[in-house]
Amino acid sequence: MSEYMDLLEKAGDFHGDICGGIVMGTKLAIFGMETLGMTPGKKDKRLIVFTEIDRCISDAISSVTKTSLGKKSLKPVGYGKFAATFVNIETGEAYRIVDIGANKKDKDKELDEETIEELTKRIDTTPGEDLFTVQKVTVNIDKNDLPGKPLEIATCAECNEVIMDGKHHLKGGKPYCISCYNGSYYAIL
Ligand SMILES: [Zn+2]
Ligand SMILES: [Zn+2]
Repeated sequence: MSEYMDLLEKAGDFHGDICGGIVMGTKLAIFGMETLGMTPGKKDKRLIVFTEIDRCISDAISSVTKTSLGKKSLKPVGYGKFAATFVNIETGEAYRIVDIGANKKDKDKELDEETIEELTKRIDTTPGEDLFTVQKVTVNIDKNDLPGKPLEIATCAECNEVIMDGKHHLKGGKPYCISCYNGSYYAIL
């Protein structure tokens, strides 16, 4: 079994099924880690991944790279795009990997009718270079967003809830949480 097929199976277990997003995401994650000279499927403390979409491919990325929200090593940015950026926080080296197929304007009709088995076989045997574009980028990561012990902890002057990792705003010298400072995604009933 190829390394890809092995990691695909694990990503499928993690996600719940092997769908098109898992097939592509597994390949993208392998390609991203290899571009940074890291070993796919193995946890690497130097790696942080920014994923631009909260859909299937991000579960594959998490599974292959062993990055996660809870370890502060997987950063979802809600751009809704089929792309992810792989950062080596030790060296600052970073690459944004974009799925070419997802961005084709005139999608191949034949490819649309591809079964998951056919897609899997095609992706397994196609080099990453033919499936993805690579942009060498630089990413500015706030020290509060790096894995490790919390650096800043505050308590909101209005709601009294604790705010980790420097996410508070200062107003009149006092810390406020984002909800109290900016308004929230929820409304209390
Ligand atoms: Zn899926
Ligand atoms: Zn508050």
